[in-house]
Amino acid sequence: MNKTRGYAAAAVKAPLGPFSFERRAPRPHDVSISIKFCGVCHSDIHQARDEWGGSIFPMVPGHEIAGIVTAVGAEVTKFKVGDRAGVGCLVDSCRTCAQCHEGLEQYCASGAVWTYNSRDRDGTPTMGGYSDQIVADENFVLRLPERLPLDATAPLLCAGITLYSPLAHWHAGPGKKVAIVGLGGLGHMGVKLAHALGAEVTVLSHSMKKHDDGLRLGADHFYSTSDAATFTKLAGAFDLIVNTVSAPLDWNALVSLLRVDGSMVVVGIPEGQVALGALGLVHGRRSIAGSAIGGIAETQQMLDFCGEHNVTADIELIPIQKINEAYERVVKSDVRYRFVIDLASLGAE
Ligand code: NAP
Ligand code: ZN
Ligand code: ZN
Repeated sequence: MNKTRGYAAAAVKAPLGPFSFERRAPRPHDVSISIKFCGVCHSDIHQARDEWGGSIFPMVPGHEIAGIVTAVGAEVTKFKVGDRAGVGCLVDSCRTCAQCHEGLEQYCASGAVWTYNSRDRDGTPTMGGYSDQIVADENFVLRLPERLPLDATAPLLCAGITLYSPLAHWHAGPGKKVAIVGLGGLGHMGVKLAHALGAEVTVLSHSMKKHDDGLRLGADHFYSTSDAATFTKLAGAFDLIVNTVSAPLDWNALVSLLRVDGSMVVVGIPEGQVALGALGLVHGRRSIAGSAIGGIAETQQMLDFCGEHNVTADIELIPIQKINEAYERVVKSDVRYRFVIDLASLGAE
């Protein structure tokens, strides 16, 4: 067993604090990774506060993990000691169902094993990246581009793939008008990726405060959803809307911004139900869909694309001791645009 130090929420809504636990002894296909950086996703907060129900405590959150390989099992072929390595939201799946065969492990019929707040196939609760090391099967470990800084690469493992997958699936590219709703951790990656894919990009934010940032990140246009005129001006404008907002919004108003055959893809996960009228969909053959992260092969494809196009997250690096403050700031939409924990700070405990 491997003694691991990290930060955990001991119970629902408890502030995170220092916590020691054991990682499994590496198996033949396992890679041991010294975690250097871990992004702070809004999903970490939803789960630490049990906003989706069923949370497992104590919980070590974190699924935007970037580090260096320290050991490999006897049968590992994809990694060697010293390589850069990443772990995202998935650490295992059944590997036999139709979705797993298609590279859609996140939709595994038996339920994927998530990096934390989940149970490994032997029943052990999984623990995430707010910690100094992780042990994972090489088939769920990602190669990180050498030319990108490791800290700003970490958020690609969740925020990056969560936007890349729907942008690719719904063919964002030259000639396509794409709107990104919410300029947070996910949204700012959506702007950068949709721009790099060649689409015309509009940000729909709940205020105009982030206007200059939006354009700097690659958006062509920026509008506030708090201004009723936005909805008149942009009616029927978009081929694709990716909605990253974690608060309940008026989805009917957003649907009215789609052109004929346009789609709104929901990736933000608000608590509770959202009302949706049939008429807005019927008039214009519009669709509404959801999307969860991306499979392992697609995540690697996204990382390679980011390496080629020099795409990383805009980050604010924090010591782990500031994690509770960071959570408060994320909830207030006061982060530009992703907190990343520098795990070297654990040494200061
Ligand atoms: P985030 O950094 O907090 O960004 C959310 C953004 O929503 C904010 O920056 C803000 O942007 C916007 N917003 C609009 N109305 C708001 C309001 N009333 N209060 C606060 N913010 C408001 O969060 P994130 O990490 O990008 O995650 C966003 C959501 O996606 C979360 O629900 C998360 O759990 C979910 N998620 C889903 C997946 C998936 O696979 N589908 C993966 C990761 C995360 P503006 O200021 O521009 O309006
Ligand atoms: Zn996430
Ligand atoms: Zn499966």
